Amino acid sequence: MTKIENILKAIKDDLLPLTKKGVEEGNHVFGGLVLDAASLKTIVAGTNNRQGNPIFHGEIDTILRFFSMKGRPAPSECIFVASHDPCSMCISAIAWSGFREIWVLFGYEDVAKDFEMPVDLMMYKEIFGVEGAKDENLFFRKYSIKRESENESNAAILKEKIEELEKLYSSLEVKDFEYPGM
Ligand SMILES: [Zn+2]
Repeated sequence: MTKIENILKAIKDDLLPLTKKGVEEGNHVFGGLVLDAASLKTIVAGTNNRQGNPIFHGEIDTILRFFSMKGRPAPSECIFVASHDPCSMCISAIAWSGFREIWVLFGYEDVAKDFEMPVDLMMYKEIFGVEGAKDENLFFRKYSIKRESENESNAAILKEKIEELEKLYSSLEVKDFEYPGM
């Protein structure tokens, strides 16, 4: 399996079941994974837990779980996968945690349009005056799974797998939630 195939498989097999359960409990669909950079095996998955705390986004939940693990590898030896392009809080948390490589399935535009969560982009604009995080910076390199997969030799297969994930994500029914900040 190629790297992107491995990432897509991890989202489907290790993250989505967790997210499905979380969504049933009133949480959002956003989730994260930490994979071993060499073997691409899943080390830990996390999913949004806004019922517990409005700042427990999927990436934060993943980071909390990762650092509570005994005998975990160094973040620099791992890759961080986010189901959705991280918000300003989460992208900073990933940087603070020391993950150097980030892979993202759904971009900011998907988050705003298909997942009815335009606040992510609004916060970047209102608080920082920017459209989003830089893909390349001193802390990390962030890759779009969709964009990168277009350049792969098995691009057609990857597109099918991505579309399958899109269907699975859109089948999740998100309950209403009042964020204290809105
Ligand atoms: Zn976030």
